[in-house]
Amino acid sequence: MNDHSAEALDHRDLNHDLDVFATDPLAGSGLPLWLPAGAAIRNELQRLAKDIAHDDGCVDVYTPVLGKRALFERSGHWTKFAADMFPPMKLGEDEVVLRPANCPHHALVYASRQHSYRELPIRLNELGAMFRAERSGVVSGLQRVRQINLDDTHVFCRADQVADEVARALRSALRAQRILGLPVDYVRLSLRGEGGSWLGSDEQWQTSQNALRSAAEQVLAGEDLALIEAVGEAAFYGPKLDVQVRDGRGQEETIATVQLDFNQPENFNLTYQAADGSHQRVVMIHRGTVGSMERVVAALLERYQGRLPFWLAPVQVVVLPVSEAHDEAARAAVDALRAAGLRAEVDHDGSLGARIRDARRRRVSLVAVIGDREAAAGLIQVTDGSDGSRRSLALEELIAKAALAYANREPIAW
Ligand SMILES: [Zn+2]
Repeated sequence: MNDHSAEALDHRDLNHDLDVFATDPLAGSGLPLWLPAGAAIRNELQRLAKDIAHDDGCVDVYTPVLGKRALFERSGHWTKFAADMFPPMKLGEDEVVLRPANCPHHALVYASRQHSYRELPIRLNELGAMFRAERSGVVSGLQRVRQINLDDTHVFCRADQVADEVARALRSALRAQRILGLPVDYVRLSLRGEGGSWLGSDEQWQTSQNALRSAAEQVLAGEDLALIEAVGEAAFYGPKLDVQVRDGRGQEETIATVQLDFNQPENFNLTYQAADGSHQRVVMIHRGTVGSMERVVAALLERYQGRLPFWLAPVQVVVLPVSEAHDEAARAAVDALRAAGLRAEVDHDGSLGARIRDARRRRVSLVAVIGDREAAAGLIQVTDGSDGSRRSLALEELIAKAALAYANREPIAW
């Protein structure tokens, strides 16, 4: 712990100023409501997740948040996680449950038709909702919730494609964290331990652990990040790579994972047709980049203490007319900013000082003022909240600079 973290505000404290989410006892604990500011942030994160997924050759799917209990018996979740799942709902002869993971549905998407070796790898991406029956005592803010909205990808590939797919997934997980500005601590390679019940053959484990290790070494060669091996930390169904970070309180946390799975392809009998016409078992890889919307928003709020990077800010520009005489010019400026795709609003209620203080409290990126001098010269006076710098410039120039920064997910180059 450093000195800074002692005074750092928790995301729940920051939420008082930022109105990202609300909770209501009537909705239930652990079920936050995303307010407009939170939805704006989340939209940007979902867009980033999709951009990265599409760059990686993923295709989108949509699957239901609930399914028959039999689906999760087949996947093994019912045996392992029933205690963390919501109780089943009776529906005629069936019982349906809220899903504890998106993987079984994606396995069914793969299984919906035959695949040839030439089609592989197939990478399915979904911003999927999954559920945990957390006790009301442990849920808190966005950190522990009962509905988790996860940027989730499942790759179906041949054994000889595993190393490439793992490298691609790890590279993308690191890219996402770099764009978000969340510093990664190290990458953990979780391996099988001695004894215990591990699914799959010795040879399968040997080959896949080596594939993960060499892929990680290759990706990390250009990075200043350590690869640390953890024997016995693998899931029972396969080895994995975990991207580890430290939160504001110095606690270690896994934010993204690349996980091999020998289990689901067996459970769902997932195969592909090889060149010789035989049916071969496909390999399944679970991978994430941006992570869960709840966890990443909490982490971002705490990392930036509410002052999010320009591309993520719920309100990017607030335009303040000095007096009623400047209302029209302010509205026209907001219209032009919005037409350029930026999140802008006008605030004309109360004294100028009070409006400036309010914009600061809400961590608005740019505070733009239009008074007599600006209106006469066709200018706008802008204060950049990230460094407090102030300048007057033409509205078109402001729009051009802001739109460029937004498109590139970078700070404004004044
Ligand atoms: Zn999965």
